[in-house]
Amino acid sequence: MVKLRGSDTSYRIGKVVCLGRNYADHIRELGNEMPSRPVLFIKPASSIIGAGDQVVIPPYSQECHHEVELAVLIGRRAKDLTESSALQYVAGYGVAIDLTLRDVQDDLKKQGLPWEIAKGFDTACPLSDFVPAAQVADPQALRITMRVNGELRQDGSTALMLRRIPQILREISAIFTLEEGDVVLTGTPAGVSAIASGDRLLAEIEGVGSLEVTVA
Ligand code: ZN
Repeated sequence: MVKLRGSDTSYRIGKVVCLGRNYADHIRELGNEMPSRPVLFIKPASSIIGAGDQVVIPPYSQECHHEVELAVLIGRRAKDLTESSALQYVAGYGVAIDLTLRDVQDDLKKQGLPWEIAKGFDTACPLSDFVPAAQVADPQALRITMRVNGELRQDGSTALMLRRIPQILREISAIFTLEEGDVVLTGTPAGVSAIASGDRLLAEIEGVGSLEVTVA
């Protein structure tokens, strides 16, 4: 369950739909191509952990990367949204970390295989509580940062998204019906790097909140 800050409303999360390759500087650092169609994948609800919880890196990986992302909480059922109405379906905004087993993902990519074991493992989706959408004046103008043990690793702005939130929700809802309590992750800026046992991860989005987890 996730909570909307300052209200009694809570949501049961069904699925987390994630957009890859949505910041040009991050596409460049991984040597990927700019996608004409959205790169989408889903993290299961079982991968979610909350503030203060511990990340457990699976034993089949030697390289787990942090990706700080703006999380969008869907407030009601949404299918085939238009861009002009899409933001009306957003209940709130939060902070997420899309943990990614980069070595495993690179291997799967090379073989043309699906990414779930690199992206959807238990604890792969640390997620904060949400701030009501009405309290975020412009979700496309927020500083977004990730610190590991106090050191600044990612420092971007949601202004740099290639696809903005209305377009993301239009494209996703044309494929997957979004239901109340679903969450959409909107991609990560540059600066992703490996984490290790004992690390303390602090993800922050200006005007939205912060999320701290540690690595077991
Ligand atoms: Zn991501």
